[in-house]
Amino acid sequence: MNYRWPLHPLTYPFESLSCWILRTADSYNSEPRDLLMQEFGIIVEGNIINFLDFNPPLELLYGLSKRTGFDWNTIRSMTAHGYVPLLIDTLDNGNGEIFNEYISQFTVLIQKAHRLQRRVLQIPWLNITRVPTLKGCPDCVNKDAAPYLRLYWQLLWMSSCPKHGIFLEPVQMYVKRGRGLGFIWPKERHLKPAPDSLLAMDHITLQAVTEGTAKVPFGKIHAGLWLRILRTVIEELSSPSTCLSLKEKKFIRSFWNKINLPFRYNLGRWGAFEGYSEDLQHTLMHVASVVFEAIFSRQKGFPPAIIDRLAAAPINEKDLVSYNPTAIRGMYTLKKERPVYNIQKQLDALLEAMRTDPEEVKYFRCIVTPLGASDDDIRKIDDYLESLGIPVKHVI
Ligand SMILES: [Zn+2]
Repeated sequence: MNYRWPLHPLTYPFESLSCWILRTADSYNSEPRDLLMQEFGIIVEGNIINFLDFNPPLELLYGLSKRTGFDWNTIRSMTAHGYVPLLIDTLDNGNGEIFNEYISQFTVLIQKAHRLQRRVLQIPWLNITRVPTLKGCPDCVNKDAAPYLRLYWQLLWMSSCPKHGIFLEPVQMYVKRGRGLGFIWPKERHLKPAPDSLLAMDHITLQAVTEGTAKVPFGKIHAGLWLRILRTVIEELSSPSTCLSLKEKKFIRSFWNKINLPFRYNLGRWGAFEGYSEDLQHTLMHVASVVFEAIFSRQKGFPPAIIDRLAAAPINEKDLVSYNPTAIRGMYTLKKERPVYNIQKQLDALLEAMRTDPEEVKYFRCIVTPLGASDDDIRKIDDYLESLGIPVKHVI
């Protein structure tokens, strides 16, 4: 079947697909697993819909676009597919060379010749070996008019919320039948606030993954460049000592010591950052943030080339994908959109939906009508909606 769904909630800014699917299923008084099975034949094992945010079948994204009338890019941008190829080269982990290229594209702490070269079937910033845990900032969610989870919280490129100064927390979502989403946060939360250096680094990353560019102290750089340099630093910090020169080991140890930890604290045998435990990932991110603090305060010892890369320069997107022929072959052009253009598109979709769906009109009136509004105010809103071709009077 290829029909249009009568109800489909509008997407919130940067909302993750799993969150939106939960809200959509709720609007039909259904469970996400039933909706996905009945509509697309997708079996959700263990009722875990978290995987939808990372690498869902493209057929599902096309199907959702057809059912809702939303542009395919809108659906795609709710998943990690939206970060390909500029932020992540590819979601295909079948070629370890792409991953290796991504994590070692630059030289910050150690020479390239001293880098451990292994074929690792991973995807940068995603752990593909275990069931993904949903994460979020409890303070952001609590302050939302309609609480929801952001996609960018679900990748490993940030571990704190720079807006609220706290660590991101694992979370479970559920629907409160007809009353939006509910969230279950761990009872024992990270009680300590996130360190300042980590917040400063995550602030740059947040800009990068939401705006496409990031302001660093030396200038404005492309998001893809920032993420690749960040991932390089993490890789270098976790390099085994047997690969390093004495000078490099001393330099790297100085950053571990700055947060009162010994060199490669608890890392054990070399492994990809994406596969480490959450605690070790937080630790590595913290040490990386100390490295960037040193770079941005112009501490000596860093290669001039990396200082140059972190300075403002004309942005050439082709320079930012990893130089691997397979990655480039699989690349497709992304339409770059300004945020205001997205808002315009969402408004158009909302107006279109309200012209045919009385439920959308009721919902919209609830949102735009302030508490204590007079009858006159409400009438003006209704008259305006009617002037846009939206039938209001018969839905009230
Ligand atoms: Zn927050």
